[in-house]
Amino acid sequence: MAEKDTNNEVYEEEELIDYEDDEDKAPDSVGAKASTAPVKKGYVGIHSSGFRDFLLKPELLRAIVDSGFEHPSEVQHECIPQAILGMDVICQAKSGMGKTAVFVLSTLQQIEPVAGQVAALVLCHTRELAYQICHEFERFSTYLPDLKVAVFYGGVHIKNHKDLLKNECPHIVVGTPGRILALARDKDLPLKNVRHFILDECDKMLESLDMRRDVQEIFKMTPHDKQVMMFSATLSKEIRPVCKKFMQDVMSYGNSPQTFSLILYYVIIFVVNFDL
Ligand code: ADP
Repeated sequence: MAEKDTNNEVYEEEELIDYEDDEDKAPDSVGAKASTAPVKKGYVGIHSSGFRDFLLKPELLRAIVDSGFEHPSEVQHECIPQAILGMDVICQAKSGMGKTAVFVLSTLQQIEPVAGQVAALVLCHTRELAYQICHEFERFSTYLPDLKVAVFYGGVHIKNHKDLLKNECPHIVVGTPGRILALARDKDLPLKNVRHFILDECDKMLESLDMRRDVQEIFKMTPHDKQVMMFSATLSKEIRPVCKKFMQDVMSYGNSPQTFSLILYYVIIFVVNFDL
């Protein structure tokens, strides 16, 4: 993972909760995605820069061209440069603005696959979303043949998942918290090499107390030194402090107060709010 840039602005907790009041208003439905996004906020023609400016791997650029992406959306333009440096990211933007590609591309850019090691873990609240995210990883890793991605959610016989992990351990794991936790507790899913921890639609996961507990337990099984990226269409007033606490747990994990202050200085949390 890239070194965190200490010259950049450091956002401490107070700034993490400094969101606009009207952010909770009606996120667009997933089905409405790109086509109905308002021109001002959608990706169409917003930035004249291309994906090439991000200096991505040629294999990724090729897949981006295949996907028909010409220009980065506003969210991608703002977040990808930070994300590919390994910085922590909290990104709030309406549905359909291209958040998925932010974490998919930046994770694929950073990962050097090692056999038997899970390097990235993506958690989300529904099976459908997990499946879609896995599909996005597959689409953008078409020209990275060594890279393996797998999706895990409840409703599938757990033995199938255990066998898959034993025989063909993926480098990127996408899943719902319940099943991921069950696999991790049984030591079938190794989390000690996770370097990228991603929560998509994090508000939905943190709103449900059961799911939040699972997410936190999984989080604690991953190494302290990792990139955390959180994405959401909304971040309600109730969830903001939970989110903040969750991020705070990252920084204070197993450290003395002095070390904590030091880490706070070095960890850069990049906060983006596109609902202005
Ligand atoms: P979000 O995660 O913010 O809800 P998605 O990442 O699912 O949004 O993107 C919505 C749709 O827009 C998807 O079909 C995706 O493939 C497409 N898309 C995302 N970014 C771009 C882009 N830069 N150019 C063209 N299409 C894009």
